[in-house]
Amino acid sequence: MNRFTVVLDLGGQWRLDDQSALHRAVLRAQAAPGGRLVVLQSGDADGRLRGPHQRRLLEQALAALAERLAAVGIPLLCPVGADLEQTLGVIARHGPLVAVERCGSNQLFDDWPYGREIFPRVFSDFRRGLAIEPEAALPAPDLGGLGDPDLLRHEAWPEGWLPGQHRDPRRSQEAGVDPRSAFPFRGDETSALARLEHYVHRSEGLRQYRDTRDAVLGTEGSSKFSPWLAIGALSVRRIWAEVRSYEARQGSDRGSEWMLQELLWREFFLWTERRDPERFASLGGTQGRAFSYDDDRERFARWTRADTGSPLIDAALTELKATGWLSNRVRQWVASDFVHRLRLPWLWGARWFAWQLIDSCPSSNIGNWSYLAGVGADPRSFGAGPRRFDLERQLQRYDPEGSYLRHWSSARGS
Ligand SMILES: Cc1cc2nc3c(=O)[nH]c(=O)nc-3n(C[C@H](O)[C@H](O)[C@H](O)COP(=O)(O)OP(=O)(O)OC[C@H]3O[C@@H](n4cnc5c(N)ncnc54)[C@H](O)[C@@H]3O)c2cc1C
Repeated sequence: MNRFTVVLDLGGQWRLDDQSALHRAVLRAQAAPGGRLVVLQSGDADGRLRGPHQRRLLEQALAALAERLAAVGIPLLCPVGADLEQTLGVIARHGPLVAVERCGSNQLFDDWPYGREIFPRVFSDFRRGLAIEPEAALPAPDLGGLGDPDLLRHEAWPEGWLPGQHRDPRRSQEAGVDPRSAFPFRGDETSALARLEHYVHRSEGLRQYRDTRDAVLGTEGSSKFSPWLAIGALSVRRIWAEVRSYEARQGSDRGSEWMLQELLWREFFLWTERRDPERFASLGGTQGRAFSYDDDRERFARWTRADTGSPLIDAALTELKATGWLSNRVRQWVASDFVHRLRLPWLWGARWFAWQLIDSCPSSNIGNWSYLAGVGADPRSFGAGPRRFDLERQLQRYDPEGSYLRHWSSARGS
């Protein structure tokens, strides 16, 4: 029988949880005679810069998702060298296409939470004026009966389209993770959901979050959700829903309220970027103000080699390169030092972060760098200069024992 096919394009997301497009695709496939599902990852349509740490997570997410879908007879295609139209042409050779559904991006709100023209410039206005709650997160649907083992054969597809074919043994997926990393987790959806359950419901993580989030070392101070959010292996609405369910169980507290606020920061930067992407990522930032700097490429090159003359910053850059991770507090120190002491253009630093960070995400990265450079959303910088972190005082407050420096200075050259 010529079976009808419904295609789901994951659109850069690497999960089955909270995907309304997947639910639509399942309904369409169930309604079609002999309907079956083909899942497709049409690739990094956003053309984002991803370095080795984030690519390792992506490969882990891909391998796990392919395996999970294959268990119910559904292929996961990653077409190389073909655009969407060509890809659909190849899929249609196996039977008529009924529909193509595409997953959206990973955000709390599907539509502008404020009118585009009146979108707030600063976070406090954004948060205070929000009158809506994100929509509920959808559970992953049952995919039973929508597979076709014939489509799991490598011969059914052009070479390299099915994951696992001709895997290069040197690829980063198998590469070891630095044992000192504060993010020792795998990139797949199951690991993401396990971490969410652990942090929100099983440990004291969420309850203590407000007091521990500035920890500079270790896995437990903050949630570590960001790498999974960045590759779409964890839904931000799922996190929101779990925090709300924690609150329903034991009441809201400083930890849960602060976590929701941090998720809103992510959302604020996403929409700020969308409002005017060019201005957002320009040296003058959303404020459009002059930014003075030294055009010193040699100084920048030394910075990328963790050789800046500041033991603290060098330790941080060593951690970044070795693991792709830096706590939020340490990111702030590095960015502030880059702008004030080294007087380098913040966009260079942001680009290096985009390549190195395991949770690299354009809107959060640029949003935070421009904030610290005094050209973005920091209200204190309007009409004044950017704020400067006093690293001595920061260390006294956040790491009086000097543990961070010891931990990462000893790692130099390793
Ligand atoms: C210079 C600089 C660059 C940054 N680049 C990135 C980046 O590329 N990708 C990225 O996801 N975050 C970035 N951040 C924001 C922040 O540092 C990370 O989101 C956070 O450290 C991730 O750790 P966590 O998941 O444990 O966060 P938690 O403290 O547990 O917070 C929970 C979630 O809230 C969101 N969140 C928290 N803080 C921020 C923030 N300041 N801005 C936006 N969202 C936030 C994240 O989605 C995070 O996963 C950057 C911050 C700075 C100062």
